[in-house]
Order: sequence, then structure tokens, then C-alpha cells
Amino acid sequence: MTTASDGPKKLFIKTYGCQMNVYDSQRMAEAMGAEGYVLTEDQSQADMVLLNTCHIREKAAEKLYSDLGRLKPLKAERPDLKIGVAGCVAQAEGDEIIRRMPIVDLVVGPQAYHRLPAMVKKGGGVDTEFPVEDKFEHLPKAPATRRAPAAFLTVQEGCDKFCAFCVVPYTRGAEVSRPVSRILTEARDLVARGVREITLLGQNVNGWHGEGPGGGEWGFGRLIRAIAEIDGLDRIRYTTSHPNDMADDLIEAHGSEQKLMPYLHLPVQSGSDRILKAMNRKHTAEEYLRLIDRIRAARPDIMLTSDFIVGFPGETDEDHRATLKLVEEVGFGTAFSFKYSPRPGTPAYDRPEVESVLADARLQELQALLSRQQKAAQEGMVGRELSVLFEKPGRNDGQMVGKSDYLHAVFVEAPEAKVGDLVRVRITHSAANSLAGELLAA
Ligand code: SF4
Repeated sequence: MTTASDGPKKLFIKTYGCQMNVYDSQRMAEAMGAEGYVLTEDQSQADMVLLNTCHIREKAAEKLYSDLGRLKPLKAERPDLKIGVAGCVAQAEGDEIIRRMPIVDLVVGPQAYHRLPAMVKKGGGVDTEFPVEDKFEHLPKAPATRRAPAAFLTVQEGCDKFCAFCVVPYTRGAEVSRPVSRILTEARDLVARGVREITLLGQNVNGWHGEGPGGGEWGFGRLIRAIAEIDGLDRIRYTTSHPNDMADDLIEAHGSEQKLMPYLHLPVQSGSDRILKAMNRKHTAEEYLRLIDRIRAARPDIMLTSDFIVGFPGETDEDHRATLKLVEEVGFGTAFSFKYSPRPGTPAYDRPEVESVLADARLQELQALLSRQQKAAQEGMVGRELSVLFEKPGRNDGQMVGKSDYLHAVFVEAPEAKVGDLVRVRITHSAANSLAGELLAA
């Protein structure tokens, strides 16, 4: 019989989906760390397995149930193994998960993570409430040993936009912005632990509008400026944004705040006004393009990335061509594109779908165009001098890998360097998904 080894209890977390979930998994690991659990990468040795789920992509619930099916033999061997389901599928499915899969001990929604240790102590349960208390205030801080040079910081959760294809407003709830003082405290704490780059996270992060230290409301641009004042912090990024929340002060911050990296993920989803309306995006293609003009006027070297949904219900060839035209006009550094798949509970769920082969062909055409743009953007970096923040050793001896200002992975021969060094590099080569460069004198 397999058993978890002696010593501290071991927690295995599988994280699906977006950076919000990566951040949440870290915070849950920290919460369980305070209860004596340490992380393991070996599921078979775990005392507790936590699946932190995502509901954005196709067949999320089915994927969860098939992963749970694979855990059945382990649970049969070790009935004391605790199995938990967190994240957006947990929120959407609730106690249905335990009904369908009795091997699951607990189900916890994204707003109730701070209650996870208590649930484990109690032996399990279901908590998918949207509690009034701020979960972040009830989650323990990262142990002082965590010294990754780049970290996430959630500033905002939930969404009030109700795009017709999206489950987020239902699984993560209404928009909530954390107050400035709490964000600054967490940011300073991260920097004190060696963090040099912070990515501010939120489902609709640029819609953040939080309470300022002396009362009164701040906008997101002002928050970025306040964070940029922290000594020792070198880089700020944020994701994910909605075009309608690119306020003037935020655009201005892209021009004036050097710590704000020249990289912006700004999903547009489609280039057709008809489809944008059907998606309830509340802006037109032209408005998006003029917004890009304003952002580029503030920060000419900014790299833009986006999300696209292909084959949204009602999409015609003409709509698809409008999307290609928009992509041609903007020129993206990279982009994520997906074939539409209906999410239960969303307004578009019951709408007649575009024929699958047609949607596949459109997706291929769009991805080919986006790949060409990505390749051109990467090759355009060759010969340029960029800053690179080293995050880990590379594959070869003496090699380090880090992220450029534009979020490209960059491999550099730097035998003397260490993780956390921020260096100047001349880019010498562009490969499929990364760049190579040589160290410049400090
Ligand atoms: S803005 Fe983003 S998170 Fe909000 S409903 Fe639309 S796609 Fe979903």
C-alpha cells in the first residue's frame, strides 16, 4: 500500500487556467502552509490533492471529472487522502461535484479560500459563498523564504461587464477593488522579500477603482504611480484589461511611468461591430483602433497583445474578414485565439453555433496571421538593447533565462549572474518562442 511519507503533511495542487488561479494557488498553499502542509510535486505522495479549476475554456467540468476519475485508485488505496476542488468550476458546480464524485472531500469557491484550513480541519464540506470579508486579509503572508524576482498581486476580482460568452461574472461575482493601503502593504512586503517585478491582477484589472488612504476613490493610473514609488521595485505589469476601462490617466501613466513595462494585453475578441455587439463588448472596432492610437501616442514602443474568439454565434465570413483587417491594422506582438465554445449559464449559450469546420478554418487563418505578426515582432527585437530580469538558470551551464521588458523569454550566457539580477542585454537571435542575447556591461 502506498502511503504519504512521515514528516510534514504534503499538499499537491494542480492549477488550471489563468494567472489569477496561479496566484490563488500560491495563496492557498500559504494558507495550508500555516497549518503545517508543505507543497509536493508528487501527487502519489500527497496527503491532500487540490484541483484549482478554470471555467473559461471548453469542457472545463468534464476535464475536472476525468481528473477526479483518475484519482479514484489513489483514494481507494489511501482513504485518508483529502481531495479538494477549488476555482471557478467549484463555484459553478458546488455540491454537485461531491454528488457525482463522492471521493471529493471539499469544494471551495474563489471567494472563500481563507476558509480552506478550517474546512480541512472539519474534514470537508462545500463553501461557495461570496463572504463580505476580504479573503486576502484573512490569508497568511508568504513565508520569508519565497524569493522569486517576479510576483503576482491581485488588486481586483470579479466583473460587471457580462460579455455574452463569459462565466466570470457568475463564478467570480461582482467587481471588487481592494483598497490602496492593502495593496501597497502587500507590494512593499513582496519587494522586501526580493521581488523586483509585480504583475497586478484582476479579471478586469484596469476597472480597479479603490479607496485611497485618506478616503476618496483612486483610479488605476494613480495606483500604478503609487506602487512605482516603492524603492527596490523595478517593473510593473497588469492583466487583464477591458478597452472601455483604459482611462486617460492610465494611458498617460504608460507614457510617463518608466517602471510600467511597455506591454499591454488588451482583449478585443472580434473586429466586427456586429459580433462585438452580440458579445456585449460595448465598443466598436473603430473605437478600439482609436484607443490603440492614443496608447501608442503615449508609449510608441508598446507591445500589444489580445484575445480573439472565432466562430461566435452568428459570425459570417464578412465578420471574420473584419477581424483579420483589425489584426492587420494593429499588428500584435502575440495573441491568444480560440474557437468559440458555449458556456452553460451565459447569454450566448443557446445561440445557434457556427458550423465547426468553418470555425476551424477561420481559426487557422487568424492564427497564421497572428503567428506571422509574432515572428516579425520577435525578429524586430534582434539588435536591440533590452533589460532582462533573470528568473532561473537556463538549459546550459552558465546560462540564465529571464523576461525582457516585452515579456519575451530571453536566454543569456551569464555565468556570474544570479536569479533576480536585472541586466542590460543585446538581443542576438530570435527562436520560435524565445530570444537569445548577450550581456552588456553594467
Ligand atoms: S470583461 Fe472579461 S471577465 Fe468580464 S465578462 Fe467580459 S470577458 Fe468576462
